[in-house]
Amino acid sequence: MHRKTLGLHKDEEGDGVAELECFHDQHVRHNPPFFNRSWTTTDKGRESMLGQPIECGRCLQLEWPEGLESLRCTPRFDESSIPRGLQKDHSTKAGVWGLIHVVSGQLRYVCQTPVEREMLLDADSKGIIPPGLLHDVEAQGDVCFYVEFFTRPG
Ligand SMILES: [Zn+2]
Repeated sequence: MHRKTLGLHKDEEGDGVAELECFHDQHVRHNPPFFNRSWTTTDKGRESMLGQPIECGRCLQLEWPEGLESLRCTPRFDESSIPRGLQKDHSTKAGVWGLIHVVSGQLRYVCQTPVEREMLLDADSKGIIPPGLLHDVEAQGDVCFYVEFFTRPG
């Protein structure tokens, strides 16, 4: 999954860190010949990276970024009130993460990362929805759940 680079900084070791639009940080070390990323060593090179897409493995792993704050929650849905949009190829906006909370019962959650990942959610397991990834849910019998949306302020 490609994410745009919104900013760059250096860590304590002087390695370049790209700040991606999904709120994941990603190391972009200049360590030839293994990683040839000479742009990390000059200001001009760094500037040229802004806006460029980088493959974000942490999104693919459904890893929750740090520093997110809750925006809002949907109403609670049950097996008969799941919005049609959520049942087929739904996606959240750029910069918005979703968290599926199952209150009772079980919910099948499928996320295209783009490899299809299928999970069975219950009250003990939450479903992480990265921004812009297609996903859908399906009730497994009686279920009650809601979705909470998050972003990073500022
Ligand atoms: Zn990411």
